[in-house]
Amino acid sequence: MKAGPKSPPHSHPAPAPGRKLEDVCAERGIRLTEQRRVIARVLSESGGHPDVEELHRRTALVDARISIATVYRTVRLFEEAGILERHDFGDGRARYEMAPESHHDHLIDLRTGKVVEFQDDRIEALQREVAKRLGYKLVDHRLELFGTPIDSDKD
Ligand SMILES: [Zn+2]
Repeated sequence: MKAGPKSPPHSHPAPAPGRKLEDVCAERGIRLTEQRRVIARVLSESGGHPDVEELHRRTALVDARISIATVYRTVRLFEEAGILERHDFGDGRARYEMAPESHHDHLIDLRTGKVVEFQDDRIEALQREVAKRLGYKLVDHRLELFGTPIDSDKD
């Protein structure tokens, strides 16, 4: 998303690059308990687009006492604070990633579930044009492409 003069409702700017997640939480009034701190660290270090179960597996390696319910509540809290972005890639599981520094869209490999990030200026421009034609200024968008690898279609 291009930074516009106004942010969409319920949206916060992505934390500046290199900011420690702990500092961002403090700034946004989130009290970091020991368990939340572990979850925050796992999130910022592991990357990708994990769902809650995957995050729970990762946090369990650090602290086995952290329950999946705690992981669930914590990601919702971070999401509401604009620290995390939630995605739905069509498999019914919410996936999370750190709010990206710059906008990107996603392509989902239907065979493997792999998520590929991309950015295309032509798509960005076209979406602004479409919104404008409809009488709107584009504020935000989500785009997910679903595909199968071209090579594997031959068999
Ligand atoms: Zn992403």
